[in-house]
Amino acid sequence: MLTNLIPLLALLALAPGSITASPMIANVPSQSALQAPSPHELFRSALLTDDRSSHIRNAMYEWKEDGFDLDLKEKRLIRFGEDEVPVWMTELEKIEAKAKGLRFMDITDYPDLGFASLISPGGKHQKVFEYPSPSKANSTTNNYIHSLFPSISTDSMRTFLGHFSGGFRTRYYKSSTGAESSRWLQSKVEEFAKLNNATKVSVRAFQHPWGQSSIIARFPAAGKKDKKRSVVVVGAHQDSTNLWPFLPAPGADDDGSGTTSTIHAFKALNEAGYVPTKSDLEFHWFSAEEGGLLGSQAIAKEYEAEGVVVKAMVQMDMTAWVKKGTEEVVGIITDFVDPALSEFMTKAVGAYH
Ligand SMILES: [Zn+2]
Repeated sequence: MLTNLIPLLALLALAPGSITASPMIANVPSQSALQAPSPHELFRSALLTDDRSSHIRNAMYEWKEDGFDLDLKEKRLIRFGEDEVPVWMTELEKIEAKAKGLRFMDITDYPDLGFASLISPGGKHQKVFEYPSPSKANSTTNNYIHSLFPSISTDSMRTFLGHFSGGFRTRYYKSSTGAESSRWLQSKVEEFAKLNNATKVSVRAFQHPWGQSSIIARFPAAGKKDKKRSVVVVGAHQDSTNLWPFLPAPGADDDGSGTTSTIHAFKALNEAGYVPTKSDLEFHWFSAEEGGLLGSQAIAKEYEAEGVVVKAMVQMDMTAWVKKGTEEVVGIITDFVDPALSEFMTKAVGAYH
């Protein structure tokens, strides 16, 4: 009974007027037991259910907070699937869709992404690349990969993730702490890039209209290059969110873990003095994945405009969670991906683990 009353009390507290005259309140035994949840907690639980009152919804729409540049009434163009017609909705409706587990892209700023390859002379909708066939029998590759393993330290990973997930209240892309976490991440990438002068790695902050930048580190290819710049991308998203984005979001697993995995692969390659031969190798730490893949779309748009050929892209998301009582496994997503690249990844996991 009391638990049912708490959201009601909080709602009344948000509504104009006083709650003291309510006869229902008089029946409640003790004021101290009535620690009403904060509006944040109330909104978060409201997002978990569909039956919310207009008071709650209006209060959510009006919510503003220092350190956040988020207008919940702003209209955005959202696409829920490749074959679905995009729809306009508010930022709050986007948050509600996410709370329901729906997956989407916010294509407001990039509605024509991918279109250039359709209209350019000789352009194909999708270029097919051939990937090598990883195998335990390839001793040169195997030896090289295994030579990197000793330089990957779980202590270093733990320290990195401890700060990345614990040092910032949230890494939400439209928050001031999300901008700070991005600057800290950039400083770590720069620190690791300097481990070996042989690699000539460049690091840049890819700026967005919101405060948090995506970070891109590039190992330039040394050998004979294709006419157009080609690149292989390894990525993870640096931003985090709570169901209600104003709440704390340490995001250790989603996707602090992928950020930790990729930055330590990056560190190990630097220490080994890795130089790619044909295509550049880039590491991307995307901003605003949780807002509907906004950071990665901005980068893809730039690469499309510059005619960069992306031969492969591997995204590491939630790489550290192992269900209790189960064995560690590497899961490979099978929807909205290139089947040939997935097959390569599956063989690589089998060959090099
Ligand atoms: Zn994620």
